[in-house]
Amino acid sequence: MRCSIGNSKKHKNIKFKLIKKFNPLLRNQFYCSAKLSKIQRIFGNARKSMISDIFPFNQFCLAYIFNKMPAKIIDGKKIAEKIINDLKSKIKNMKEKPGLALVLVGNNPASEVYVNFKEKDSKEAGVYCERYNLDENISEMDLLNLVNNLNQNPKIHGVLVQLPLPKHIDENLVTNSILPHKDVDGFTAVSLGHLFSDKTILAPATARAVIHLIESTGAKIEGKNAVVVGRSNIVGKPVAMMLLEKNATVTICHSRTKNLEENTKKADILVVAVGKPNLITKDMVKEGAVVIDVGINRIGGKLVGDVDFNNVKEVAGFITPVPGGVGPMTRAMLMENTLKAVELAKRIS
Ligand code: NAD
Repeated sequence: MRCSIGNSKKHKNIKFKLIKKFNPLLRNQFYCSAKLSKIQRIFGNARKSMISDIFPFNQFCLAYIFNKMPAKIIDGKKIAEKIINDLKSKIKNMKEKPGLALVLVGNNPASEVYVNFKEKDSKEAGVYCERYNLDENISEMDLLNLVNNLNQNPKIHGVLVQLPLPKHIDENLVTNSILPHKDVDGFTAVSLGHLFSDKTILAPATARAVIHLIESTGAKIEGKNAVVVGRSNIVGKPVAMMLLEKNATVTICHSRTKNLEENTKKADILVVAVGKPNLITKDMVKEGAVVIDVGINRIGGKLVGDVDFNNVKEVAGFITPVPGGVGPMTRAMLMENTLKAVELAKRIS
């Protein structure tokens, strides 16, 4: 039965005091976690339904305070589907369709799966897609020639060479041979360099996905402690730069970081991109934190992230699952970048 606050003088007094004290706090989930014990002490045995009459605008915060409810799962798949659908509508009305070239070298099973997904997303969004499956033993020169041809092809607006490449090929050289305005993965030195300015051309898709997922929670990034675990050029560093650009206080942790837990515990926003299952456990996470798990690990045919999801979700405020979190969002961001590349091509020509 729903219990309402009555109109007696006593109840009116309680209502007034509660609103005065907690109205601003309850708007923000970070505050909720920080003030949890204080709020619980003052509310005492008050019933959730009674308090929700006073604060109807933030049911999630109330549930979190009273039940210490598990983290809200950030549904990357659903958010990504919406983005792809929106792109589809835009592309439908475009005279010149965006074109994406997907280059796969060799038979790495994981790479094959990723490229299959990207091809499927392209079809779904209405992006014209050319796929190149190249032999493991292709020479570096032949691969560079292909990239060069794609750079010159006006039907192709984005070029993506799936990494990793076989050992005899210089990955950096091939990646940097992609023209910056066609670099939809955002991995060339020019694209990465632009992260240091506020005028990004094509930002790395995974880093964009991470920021998008954090923002989807409604949590503010500005002024928050953000900790990024992993410092690779394609994930960790770009994510850190983008969080900095959004005015977070950013800490980057890596394989040589001493006392990882000491750092992660301080994170209002925790992004993990390492490639080690269960690296982040419940006791390493601050209550109410937004946790974004970029890691992809295969354990006995199952995909898992770097975060001990089942236990961490008991303390986090929001958390991404693996699969179904950063992965689909990265692909959606790739499609967005391809569309952006059409605009860039127009501006350049
Ligand atoms: P990487 O191997 O290039 O970098 C891993 C980073 O982790 C390094 O910077 C290293 O210093 C750090 N590290 C290693 N051990 C550590 C430890 N014990 N404590 C703290 N830091 C440690 O990997 P990457 O390319 O950045 O990818 C990271 C993970 O993200 C992988 O699992 C990868 O498959 C995944 N990934 C997912 C997506 C996606 O779309 N979901 C995209 C790219 C990468």
